[in-house]
Amino acid sequence: MTSTRDRIYVDGGWVASTGTGTLPVTNPFTEEVIGTVPEGTAEDVDRAAQAAGRGFEEWSQTSLSDRVKACTHIAEGLQARQQEIALSAATEMGAPWQIAVMVQAGLPLISFASMEDLVHDVEWERQSGNSLVVRQPVGVVGAITPWNYPLHQIAAKVAPALVAGCSVVVKPSELVPGVAYILAEVIDSVGLPPGVFNLVPGVGPVVGEAIASHPLVDMVSFTGSTRAGRRVAELAAAGPKRTSLELGGKSASILLDDLSGETLANAIVGSLTGCLINSGQTCSALTRLLVPRAVLDEVVGNLEVFAQFATMGDPLDPATQQGPLVSKLQQERVRGYITAAIAEGATLVAGGPEQPDHLPRGFFVTPTVLVASAGSVIEQEEVFGPVLTVVPYDGGDEAAIRIANGTPYGLSGAVWGADRDRALQVARRLRTGQVGVNGGAFNPTAPFGGFGQSGYGRELGPLGIEEFTAITSIQL
Ligand code: NAD
Repeated sequence: MTSTRDRIYVDGGWVASTGTGTLPVTNPFTEEVIGTVPEGTAEDVDRAAQAAGRGFEEWSQTSLSDRVKACTHIAEGLQARQQEIALSAATEMGAPWQIAVMVQAGLPLISFASMEDLVHDVEWERQSGNSLVVRQPVGVVGAITPWNYPLHQIAAKVAPALVAGCSVVVKPSELVPGVAYILAEVIDSVGLPPGVFNLVPGVGPVVGEAIASHPLVDMVSFTGSTRAGRRVAELAAAGPKRTSLELGGKSASILLDDLSGETLANAIVGSLTGCLINSGQTCSALTRLLVPRAVLDEVVGNLEVFAQFATMGDPLDPATQQGPLVSKLQQERVRGYITAAIAEGATLVAGGPEQPDHLPRGFFVTPTVLVASAGSVIEQEEVFGPVLTVVPYDGGDEAAIRIANGTPYGLSGAVWGADRDRALQVARRLRTGQVGVNGGAFNPTAPFGGFGQSGYGRELGPLGIEEFTAITSIQL
C-alpha cells in the first residue's frame, strides 16, 4: 500500500501546495518509507483560511438540519471506506488490526453519525429576562491534530464544528496523514460549499503555527502534546482567539483495599488493558496503577503473567495485540524512560528497554511493568508507550487520591472497589476529565477533556458542539 498524495484540499478542490517540499510517511512495522505528502506552507494556510472565511459566510447561514444531513452523509462515506481507513491507520502508525477497525475506523463514524441526536441536546437559544440568548457558530476553526487516533481526533473537531455552522482548516499529523486524506475525499464527494473544509498537511512549526496565528482563524482546537499546546495558546493569545487544548496525561487506576479474588483480578486486567490499548499510545491511558501495599506482591505477580500475554507482532495480523510504536524517535524516547526509571530505583517486573528477540525489525517496545514510588520521574511524566508504573500506597483512600491527583496532568483515571458507592466517592474527588468506576466503558458521546496540563475545553457530546459556538444576547 502506498501513502503518496501530491495535493492539498483548499476551497472545495484538490490543488498543488505553493511549496515544493514533501514529507515521508513511514510504516513503523517494516521501517520503510511508503509514501509522501506535500509539505504545506504558511501561504497554503493563508489560502485555506481565506477560503474558509468565504465558506463560513455561506455555511453559517444554512439550516441546522442541512448541516446534520451533511454529517450523516459523511458518516455513510466513511462507513463505505472503513477497511481502507483501518488499513491506513495500521500501516502508517502500526495500530493493531482489531483497534484499527473498531476504534481508528469505528469512532470517527460515530462522531459524524451521532450529530443527528446530539443537536437536540444543545440549548441553541433561550429566553433570559428580556433577552434572547442565542448560540452562533464561532467562525473559522483551525484544527491541529496528533497521530495516535489520527481520524478520531479530526472527526471529534470537524463534525461538531460543521454542525455548529463553522468552516475548518485541518492540519493532520505529519506522521500519519493518510486517514485525513480519506476524510477529505469523502467530504469532497458529499459536496459541501467551497471553503467549508480545507486540509493542509505539514509540520507543526510551519503549518500549525501559521494556523494558530492567522488573523482569519477565530478558534484553534488543538490535540497533542502539552509542549506544542502551550505554543499554540501563546500564538493564539496574540489574536486573541479562542483555543481549546486536549493535551497529555498520566492517568491513575486506583485499586481500593476492599478488592480480593475475582474483583482484584478483574481490576488488574482492566488496568493493564487501559494502559496498553493502542500499544500504549493513548492520551487517556491508565499508566499508573495505585496499589495498597498489602496486596503489592499479589498484584505484581499477576501483572508479570498478564503482560506476557500482550502479543506483539504485525499490525495486520488480527492476533496482534501490540503493534510497533509510531516512529523510531518515539521508540527511543520510551526506551529512554524505562532505562532512566531503572537507574532511578524502579523495579522492573516485565518487559524492558531491549528490542524483542523475535522482532528484530519494527519500532517495538515490549509491554513493560515497573514498580516505582510516587514522585519519581516515571510516575510523574507522560511516556506515551506500553509502560505501566505500579505505585504502592499506604494510608487508605486519602493517600490514593493524593497520589492520583499528584501530577500536573488530569485527563483520565479509574477506580476499582468491591463497594461501588465508596469507589464512586473516590472517583468524585479525582481532578481529572474522565473516570471509569469498576471498568465503566469509554462513552464516545460524553464530554472528554482535561484539568491542569491536560488542557481545557471539552470534546464529544453536546458540550463538544457548544465549544464551537459563541453567545449573542438579543435584548427585546
Ligand atoms: P505533538 O504535540 O507533537 O503534535 C500534535 C500536532 O501538533 C501535530 O499535528 C503537530 O504537527 C502539531 N505541532 C507540533 N508543534 C507545533 C507547533 N509549534 N505549533 C503548532 N502545531 C504544532 O503531539 P503528537 O506527538 O502528535 O501526539 C502525542 C501527544 O498528544 C501526547 O502528549 C498525547 O498525550 C497527546 N494527545 C492528547 C489527546 C487528548 O485528547 N487530550 C489525544 C491524543 C493525544
